[in-house]
Amino acid sequence: MKKRIFLSMSLLCTVCLLVLACLFCLIFYNQLSAEIYSELRGRALPFATADTAFAQQEFGRLTFTDMRITLIAADGTVLYDNTTNAANLPNHLDRTEVQQAIANGSSEGSRYSDTVQQEIYYYALRLSDGAILRLAKPNRNIWGIFASALPLVAVTIVAVLAVSYVVANKLTRRIVAPISDINPQAEATAPYDELTPYARTINAQRRRIATQLADINSHNATMQAITNTMNEGIIIADSGANLVMANNSAKKLLHINSNATGQSMLTVLRDVSFLQQLQQAIQGERGELTMNLADGIYRVYFSPLTKNGAVILFLDVTERAHAEKMRREFTANVSHELKTPLTSIYGNAELLTNGMVQPSDLPDFYIKIKNEAARLISLIEDIMLMSYLDEGAAGSEFIEVSLLDTAKAAVRAMAEKARRYQISLQLDGSPCSAYANPTMLQELFTNLLDNAIKYNQKGGSVCLTVGPSGQNAQIIVSDTGIGIPAQAQARIFERFYRVDTSRSRETGGTGLGLAIVKHIVMVHKGEIKLESTPGEGTTITVTLPIAEK
Ligand code: ADP
Repeated sequence: MKKRIFLSMSLLCTVCLLVLACLFCLIFYNQLSAEIYSELRGRALPFATADTAFAQQEFGRLTFTDMRITLIAADGTVLYDNTTNAANLPNHLDRTEVQQAIANGSSEGSRYSDTVQQEIYYYALRLSDGAILRLAKPNRNIWGIFASALPLVAVTIVAVLAVSYVVANKLTRRIVAPISDINPQAEATAPYDELTPYARTINAQRRRIATQLADINSHNATMQAITNTMNEGIIIADSGANLVMANNSAKKLLHINSNATGQSMLTVLRDVSFLQQLQQAIQGERGELTMNLADGIYRVYFSPLTKNGAVILFLDVTERAHAEKMRREFTANVSHELKTPLTSIYGNAELLTNGMVQPSDLPDFYIKIKNEAARLISLIEDIMLMSYLDEGAAGSEFIEVSLLDTAKAAVRAMAEKARRYQISLQLDGSPCSAYANPTMLQELFTNLLDNAIKYNQKGGSVCLTVGPSGQNAQIIVSDTGIGIPAQAQARIFERFYRVDTSRSRETGGTGLGLAIVKHIVMVHKGEIKLESTPGEGTTITVTLPIAEK
């Protein structure tokens, strides 16, 4: 702006100066011309009535050094010239001023002389005898006048430029100061009327920016809140594979410091496959891999970002991987468990069909086949129940169930078996109810009582206690049986785990009883505890949330 004002001012002043200088030179030149003509006329006119002889005599006496005096006879012969020998001059009859003076009595004019390189002013006067008196005086031409004025003009222009510079500086400061004083944070008021539309636009834009900024901030806060509450880890890396953002889960998983932003991903996770996938994602290719991180298994997804860089998602698949492993093992175990009774049934049936069994042994074979088939059925029932529980017992109904009544029913159902095993079965307890699925609860009681009877000693006892315990309902099944060795205690809830396989088989066990019990407890959000001393007995305590009245 300063430069523009300075240039405009300088240009304006310089043009004005030059125009003024030209004007003055023209006026001065015209003035000078008029003065010269007047002087020439003043000197010549006294001779208007004189003749050649008088004039010659007069001019012989008077000497004008600043003027050329020429006396020309009526025929053009030069009679006298004060600057040169008249005899050497040619006939002057053809000269314009001479012609005009002969015709009109007098004439004046100017002509540029190549000889003296000056403009010469003439005044010619016809004398009484017809001779012509011509007075001439050189005048400076207008360009000369202008040239002589030029140094002064140049100095003035330089002075004007200097003044313009100072004035432009001050002017700019004075013009700009109110604009600079505008507070961009506050509502702008126009310092000049001409700026009112701009002030209005600035205010509208400021308001729009403020709204947009607020939107962006709230959007960012929402995004941050979402990403930070996510269980999945999220990392964003830029095109140079440097960390841009990591949510709380990712920070926790990879032990990322809060000041790690901007650091290379190499310092975040030093894993070749991870870094290779990251580079590919930065170049626009999606990818995924499974990694063992911290104490879990993670599926890591790499996606390219539109504006370079990549986003990495860490999904905890530990449970899924574990469940898959369990399912694989379960399938293998199920096949194995099913194969044993089936092989036995097939073998016995083959012997029977080939007629290789003595008629007296036939009842034994039929009983064997029946027992194996019964085992097969209870195995399949347990497997189906297990699968149902694995699916989260979908669709099962939870109601308020009386534990004491369910316990009584279970004891009644197991009384016959207890008698067979010569075990005394006793129920203790107080009324108490739990929010549960009655069928599952029955299954839980039956399985626990069944084990307590099966793995007991002849003449032993089983005691079932139910009742409230603080905020919970408690079921305690305690026996005086063979007990469970310490090293097996942690595993008896696993599927198909048996401490003594042959005893379990003999008693019709499937190896799924306690696994089913544990699952039922989990589905009811309860807890199960085991205490056992080999040779002395086992106590299993189940705690279930009490039904709210
Ligand atoms: P099973 O069908 O073989 O009884 P369970 O899952 O019910 O399978 O039990 C797993 C194993 O735990 C049993 O094989 C047995 O060895 C042991 N067990 C369970 N309950 C008792 C108990 N009350 N006393 C001693 N051992 C037990």
